Amino acid sequence: MLDNFVSVAELERQASFCNKVRELVLGKGMLAFVITLGCQQNEADSERIRGILTSVGYTLTDDEAIADIIIVNTCAIREHAEKRALSIIGRYKHNKARNPNTVIGVCGCMSAQEHRSEQLKHSYHYVDFAIGTASLHRLPELIYNALNKGKRTFLLDEEKPQIAEGIPVVRESGHRAWVSIMYGCNNFCTYCIVPYVRGRERSRMPSDIINEVRELARDGYRDITLLGQNVNSYGKDLDGEYDIAYLLHEISKIDGDFWIHLMTSHPKDASDRLIEALSLKCCANHFHLPLQSGSSEMLRKMNRHYDIEKYLGIIDKLKKASPDIALTTDIIVGFPGESDEDFERTLEVVKRVEYDSVYTFIFSTRKGTPAYSMPNQIPDEIKKARFERLNDLQNDISRRKNEAMIGKIVRVLVDGKSKNNEKIYTSRTESNKIVHFESQEDYTGKFINIKITRADTFALYGEI
Ligand code: SF4
Repeated sequence: MLDNFVSVAELERQASFCNKVRELVLGKGMLAFVITLGCQQNEADSERIRGILTSVGYTLTDDEAIADIIIVNTCAIREHAEKRALSIIGRYKHNKARNPNTVIGVCGCMSAQEHRSEQLKHSYHYVDFAIGTASLHRLPELIYNALNKGKRTFLLDEEKPQIAEGIPVVRESGHRAWVSIMYGCNNFCTYCIVPYVRGRERSRMPSDIINEVRELARDGYRDITLLGQNVNSYGKDLDGEYDIAYLLHEISKIDGDFWIHLMTSHPKDASDRLIEALSLKCCANHFHLPLQSGSSEMLRKMNRHYDIEKYLGIIDKLKKASPDIALTTDIIVGFPGESDEDFERTLEVVKRVEYDSVYTFIFSTRKGTPAYSMPNQIPDEIKKARFERLNDLQNDISRRKNEAMIGKIVRVLVDGKSKNNEKIYTSRTESNKIVHFESQEDYTGKFINIKITRADTFALYGEI
């Protein structure tokens, strides 16, 4: 199991590169700009990238035009996402032309693929380095190569990627935090590229996670999301009896007032122990359980390893354990071979479960995944029509559920002033519902109680 982790010798080697970069950067007012595309895992990775950059002497900036180092953290979930990343990288050619000393780096899921790494190396001559998702701890070395020798480096992740502990983190928010508890995925859903770009599942040690959560609680963080491609399988690769329920029980012993969210989970690994642990005081009364399709036949083609009976059985157990639990899900419409009947089954599940919200996706082919070459691809107009029907149905449910909250008092975590109205603050309930309210006082980062006075499909409104 020790080979799951980057060796101490390698971490020390990177620490020496940190010192060398500091000598080149410190005191020179050098600025760093990081752009993040894609999912929460990338958001969390970018917080570590910012941590490394500030620890070697850069100051963060929001202005890419004046940055001395630019890092693009890319996504590869769809071909469109890769095209977008390449177009963003393309515009930094001008930064390099204006200032040849600008360092330009690419990381994330797109650059973890060999053909993209080669493309960046040969067609984007102003890119100084590109690395895979599991090589972030080597950033100091790559920055040093670029700054000191003008050397370009293109690294793919090891066949068996490892976890690097101890990387500094600069968090976006002062009250909401991501904590990665594991990396990679073993599931190979037929539409998904993630296992090919992020490698197999690797769990962090429970002690490292618990210490990180303890520090966050001590520092006043109020909403902590335990992050992984499938947090329900946490610990399977560790020696010892560790699982996600164990982790939640240990976290529940930490002093502090905070919510724990899980993102994201796979139904095939949703154990009774986990469902029971969700009732712990620290756990938000919310669970995200991706459905993907209401048809067992589609689930089989998606390689999801559960059928609709098993899925609904988990939902029943969750509702029995906590009748008012907020449930959210992900659904793909238009997967190859999806018939009208298959789609109707999805609508039936949505009606039966009554999710609080649904993240809906139109299936699009992704090169490199089995679904790319599956027969019976669904025409765009059918996919679009199904997508609209599903959204209409869910919007009705969301509005009805939100309206049922009028008159109730809910606890919210305040995020700050609304972008559109100075007098209005935005907050979220533990089930992630947005609540707007008016206030003279700034409660950002605090829990407060709000009486709901109005509701629509996407938000609640209330008063303190
Ligand atoms: S569980 Fe499936 S959808 Fe999620 S990351 Fe793994 S392969 Fe992709």
